[in-house]
Amino acid sequence: MVAVDGFGAVPGDPEWLPSRDRGVHVVGLVDFNQGSLGPLSFTGTLVEAFGDVVGVVRGRCGRLGQFQRVQLGVLTQELVPSLMSNLLNPDAIFSNNEMSLSDIEIYGFDYDYTLVFYSKHLHTLIFNAARDLLINEHRIPNAEMAVGKNGLFSCRRGRDTGASPWPPCCRHALGHGIFCDVDVASEYPAEIRKYEYDPSFAIRGLHYDVHRAVLMKIDAFHYIQLGTVYRGLSVVPDEEVIEMYEGSHVPLEQMSDFYGKSSHGNTMKQFMDIFSLPEMTLLSCVNEHFLRNNIDYEPVHLYKDVKDSIRDVHTKGIMYRAIEADIEKYICYAEQTRAVLAKLADHGKKMFLVTNSPSSFVDKGMRYIVGKDWRDLFDVVIVQAEKPNFFNDKRRPFRKVNEKGVLLWDRIHKLQKGQIYKQGNLYEFLKLTGWRGSKVLYFGDHIYSDLADLTLKHGWRTGAIIPELRSELKIMNTEQYVQTMAWLQTLTGLLEQMQVHRDPESQLVLQEWKKERKEVREMTKNFFNAQFGSLFRTDQNPTYFLRRLSRFADVYMASLSCLLHYDVRIPFLHVASSLGDPSHPCDSALCFPTSVGFNSVSNHFANDTLVRVWSQAP
Ligand SMILES: [Mg+2]
Repeated sequence: MVAVDGFGAVPGDPEWLPSRDRGVHVVGLVDFNQGSLGPLSFTGTLVEAFGDVVGVVRGRCGRLGQFQRVQLGVLTQELVPSLMSNLLNPDAIFSNNEMSLSDIEIYGFDYDYTLVFYSKHLHTLIFNAARDLLINEHRIPNAEMAVGKNGLFSCRRGRDTGASPWPPCCRHALGHGIFCDVDVASEYPAEIRKYEYDPSFAIRGLHYDVHRAVLMKIDAFHYIQLGTVYRGLSVVPDEEVIEMYEGSHVPLEQMSDFYGKSSHGNTMKQFMDIFSLPEMTLLSCVNEHFLRNNIDYEPVHLYKDVKDSIRDVHTKGIMYRAIEADIEKYICYAEQTRAVLAKLADHGKKMFLVTNSPSSFVDKGMRYIVGKDWRDLFDVVIVQAEKPNFFNDKRRPFRKVNEKGVLLWDRIHKLQKGQIYKQGNLYEFLKLTGWRGSKVLYFGDHIYSDLADLTLKHGWRTGAIIPELRSELKIMNTEQYVQTMAWLQTLTGLLEQMQVHRDPESQLVLQEWKKERKEVREMTKNFFNAQFGSLFRTDQNPTYFLRRLSRFADVYMASLSCLLHYDVRIPFLHVASSLGDPSHPCDSALCFPTSVGFNSVSNHFANDTLVRVWSQAP
């Protein structure tokens, strides 16, 4: 009845106390505060924490306060196989909502990071191009400009130009009719060029405090995960974070708006796009440079300039040209996309493409991943759609693009197979195709731009492509990770059970356990990303990203190739919610039972992260 093993720590080792050597099977912890048994103070108070297995406590004899630490012992040995039997398949489709593929008649796709996947080289390209644009084409961010009485231009950080008016080619607008002469205040420091893209720095879904210039991870309840707040490339100490935010909670009015966009008053911008990974990294590098060199700067200007530079890499065609010039270097996963489209076509499904990318770029990419006849697979192709405006703005008509990329002027009465259309809007699309409601499933990687409006306003089914899912699940399936999580759950359970002991000595021990739990949590975070941890969870909660994913996506998966493992003709099996399912070992402090009654899925509270996987998974 006692959670104690030997380690020579229990004098006398009473016969009924199991020892580690005999294979301890522990059912609880002993409160040694009262009573006696030989040299032990002992009451036999039982704390049933985990059914018939708790863990192995190593400690000196006597009072609870004398326990030194909890050892990963029997619990791990018995819990790990249980956890390992509930591992999640990285190729599975995960569901937030009941849905049957047999009901889906029409499949829609985004292009970038949905039909096509890019290699690691692309983010390096974007980072380098944006960094160079920033250096070459943007002003020093805190340059204060003024026009004097004599009409001459002055710059606090530079020198007077002594000339007015200035040639338009060398002026950059600062707004409100004031201009900065680039010959004077000029560009961002060329030293920024020494920063290289680090693919392991940021993760998607982070928030950036535009005014304070700090990047951080926030959970589903708007709490900052301490230890994941970065100013430049350095972590901000917890105490400083708590002082800055008067705690760790971020009020709703400071967050990006419902669609994830920043507008007036929203100082917390969320980075949801896969393309935003180089943006976050560049922002952090430039912040780092200014901070290291004690340069006084305005973070709001820096944020805008970096954002504009990243945007320009797209809008000026730099990225598109580079990919088209070396398609094999940048595009991957081609065969699987081709197989998915062929499978859907074989089952008579209609398919369409709605992308923000330009026509020639998409055509070259699709020729590479599917073949020159790729348009035969699609009933409708729409490029430069300008999502999310495509879903909201009724005024923009479709425009046909001919084979040479020339825009035609005739009115569109029908969306024809084999043609490419530009812009347009969803309302017109629905009118021309009649593809309404839950028979349509649209896949995209951007939870806001691709999926939010469809879920909230238009009633299409939505599928999120989350490539990070595959790599994170592979990590979660390693024995090392499972063992660490088993220990974390043990420790948390012990804390929950033993915190009732209020005496000073017990409190000291509890503090030690809390310290250890913090260290183990840090360890689990580092399995994923050394700075920010998992995309899907903080120490104890789902992330803000996962919450949004749960709201806007009916299903989600690592890539479209996951569809290859499912039969699209039959409904998914009905599986009762596993809320309370004893087969899923979950700790109350670490698992996130969010909903009941979803059928067609089984809930898996795997390794701290709530995911529900379709039972049809291979
Ligand atoms: Mg995309």
